[in-house]
Amino acid sequence: MQPKNSVAHRLYLVAALGAALVFLLAVSFLHFANSTRIRARDFRNVDLAEVVLSSDVEVLLERHRRIIETAPIALDRNWIRREGAIARGIVKVIKERLRHASDAALAGLVPKIDGLDDLASKVLDASAELAQDRSILAARAYGEAAGSLLIDVQRQRAHRLAIANEDVNVLATSSRDLVKWLFGTLGVLLVLVTLSLGVVRNFVRRLHAVTESVRKLARNDTSITVADTASLDEVGDIARAVEVFKSNAVALLDHEKELERLNDWFEIALDNMARGLSMFDADRRLLVCNRRYREIYALPDDLTKPGTSFEEILRHRIKIGTARRDDSEDTMRAGWPLLEPSDKPTTLTHELADNRVISIAYQALNGGGWVAVHEDITEKRKSDTRVATIARQDALTELSNRRHFHEEIDRALAEVASIGAFGVLWIDLDHFKEVNDTHGHPTGDALLQKVAERLKSAVRQNDFVARLGGDEFAIILYGSPSPRDCANLSGRLIRSLSKSFEIGGQIITIGASIGIVRAPEHGGEADILLKHADIALYQAKSQGRGDCVIYQPEFETHMRQRRQLEADLRQAMANGELTLNYQPIVDLEEGRVLSCEALMRWKHPERGFVSPALFIPIAEETGLISAFGAWVLKEACRAAMLWPGHVRVAVNLSAAQVREGGIMEAVVRALDESGLDAHRLELEVTETLLLQDDAKTLETLHRLQAIGLTIALDDFGTGYASLSYLRNFPFDRVKIDQSFVRDLPLKPHCQAIVRAVVQLARMLGMRSVAEGVETEEHLAQVQDAGCTEVQGYLLARPVPEDMVVRTMAAAEDELARLKARERPEKGLRRTEFVPIARKS
Ligand code: C2E
Ligand code: MG
Ligand code: MG
Repeated sequence: MQPKNSVAHRLYLVAALGAALVFLLAVSFLHFANSTRIRARDFRNVDLAEVVLSSDVEVLLERHRRIIETAPIALDRNWIRREGAIARGIVKVIKERLRHASDAALAGLVPKIDGLDDLASKVLDASAELAQDRSILAARAYGEAAGSLLIDVQRQRAHRLAIANEDVNVLATSSRDLVKWLFGTLGVLLVLVTLSLGVVRNFVRRLHAVTESVRKLARNDTSITVADTASLDEVGDIARAVEVFKSNAVALLDHEKELERLNDWFEIALDNMARGLSMFDADRRLLVCNRRYREIYALPDDLTKPGTSFEEILRHRIKIGTARRDDSEDTMRAGWPLLEPSDKPTTLTHELADNRVISIAYQALNGGGWVAVHEDITEKRKSDTRVATIARQDALTELSNRRHFHEEIDRALAEVASIGAFGVLWIDLDHFKEVNDTHGHPTGDALLQKVAERLKSAVRQNDFVARLGGDEFAIILYGSPSPRDCANLSGRLIRSLSKSFEIGGQIITIGASIGIVRAPEHGGEADILLKHADIALYQAKSQGRGDCVIYQPEFETHMRQRRQLEADLRQAMANGELTLNYQPIVDLEEGRVLSCEALMRWKHPERGFVSPALFIPIAEETGLISAFGAWVLKEACRAAMLWPGHVRVAVNLSAAQVREGGIMEAVVRALDESGLDAHRLELEVTETLLLQDDAKTLETLHRLQAIGLTIALDDFGTGYASLSYLRNFPFDRVKIDQSFVRDLPLKPHCQAIVRAVVQLARMLGMRSVAEGVETEEHLAQVQDAGCTEVQGYLLARPVPEDMVVRTMAAAEDELARLKARERPEKGLRRTEFVPIARKS
């Protein structure tokens, strides 16, 4: 059912209206036609014969008149007969017609015509008989009859003309009606057509607008406004449908835009990936790839379009050298590795013909084909190699490092059956620390580099040289070297390393100690073998350095003993095993004891007295030295309180003790507890303390000096740059090491050294003490060199506390005795120097 205002409804209305009008027109037409037809029929019913008849009658009368007029006088009978026959023929025709005439008036003429005919016949007959009178009489009668008939005929004609006139009027009226009807019909049709056109035009216009909207929509123009959506007719329906279509199109376009945007993002993301990405379908045709993929394989744009076959790409790569090294047309023909679908990702590393290394992570796709992520790992590979090299190389010397050394030992042990026995030389540089500390790390580093060079040049190509760290080196000697071979090479190495090095214009001399092991003889496992090498090295060092030692099982016993000693030392103080001995130091000029040096003694319950030269280093290494030092200070100060007031007590200070801190507090406490004057306490420090050359150490020494203590530089000359230490701190006293004193009689240059040191000390305002004066010759020479004080067995040995005072007196006596025997000329050789002003 169409709604009332629908187009169809309107068209139906127009159609119905049209039909009604057509019906009315038809009816009116029928009516009109009908009326016109009646008239026509009436018109047609007018007998033409009647009209003709009147003419015929007139013709007859005319002919009769001529005959009647002529016949009385005519002589030609034939003519009269013939004319009479014609007249009779005419009469016959007229009569015939009149008989059929519908008009009663006409029918009434027949007797008259008959009578006329008879009269005419009489005329003719009389004429034919030449009876002129009769004929004239008959002619007269005829004339009267003919006149009457003629009047009837003319009357009839007038009647007929009136009827015809009326018919013409009717026809004219009908024609006018027809014209009116036609115009009316045309008007109605015009209205109908106009109405229809109006409806259709409106419909078409609106439909056109909607169609235009659809057309624009088809061109993705969603900016349109669809008209007529409020109309309730079909166009409205279409418009609303188009509106919905538009909304869908807008949504679709938005969706497409969204997809496009996503696609753009996807492409941007792909192209900004640091790794190459490619995706091939089951037919090995490229689905997608990114910029990095193109770059890695230097692919032109036309080879990276979707649909390009993998073979095409590979062929190009082979041509330009970005395929694998072993890829070629042949390998391609043989079927280049087809990726078998696998659930698990597969990672392959391809070495390309252009020397790059590409890591490719493949993942098969469900429907066939694969996705691959390509990464150029050339640099990473190089840096890995570099890192691996660095990780196994000593950066300073470029020798193998400890890690590489251990790997090599493991490898050599694992293959010892095939490569044969090998030796390991464990090398430790002597005095390297002093060089490092004295000349600085750059010089130390340069020295290590030169040591590495000497080591490398001393061994064969296939031997393995490593720096294990610090001043430790190791060499693996391959080719089943005998113990003698190992020892010989070690000897050569030690000699080589003991030769002086020139670094930055400075001449530096070190030495080396070497522990030797042989594998598998001294250990089938790396740990054991290297432990034995360490023990052998320790043994070499403890034998006095500059030596090589082949491992022997008993060395372990020595090590164990040392460890035991360490353990015992930890208990020593608590067990009261530590005591102090005091050794007087005698002033040569005054001939009296000015100080006594406190020297620690350890009486081991089983071993008896252990030398400080053995246990002091252990105490330093184990950190016991601080406690020991504090105890010595306390004891020494306490003991000195019992001595004559001019005698100082000298206490040895270990560098480790100073490093650990708290020395100032220990000194103050010892002085406080004992009541000793600070001026009567002297501290002896070794050069190793000054090797550190740090401000804190010097500051500590200054503070100690500031509170009244005197500071002596002990063992002078054993360190590295002894003279330079004198520059760093204003020592009160310099103790010349006993090694110089011992060699004085043997080595003339020792005299020169001692003399120079003494003179230098004097110039710097320091007193000089000669240590280890054992003989009169020593005494004479150190006195001759200008030493101000002496210490040694010649005058007094270190003695326990209870013997000190006695020993001091004995030493003075002994010196006096010796001086009395002294040759006078020796003392004359002494050179006098004026001391320079002492630094504050
Ligand atoms: P030092 O400080 O140079 O002490 C002098 C060393 O020389 C002492 O050895 C002493 O007995 C020895 N000596 C003295 N005169 C002669 C001599 O004429 N001939 C020989 N051959 N030796 C002589 P000692 O007592 O064995 O001490 C050795 C080192 O131990 C000391 O050398 C010192 O560095 C250290 N030391 C001793 N006691 C202590 C201490 O309480 N604390 C610290 N830190 N070190 C100490
Ligand atoms: Mg000393
Ligand atoms: Mg000394």
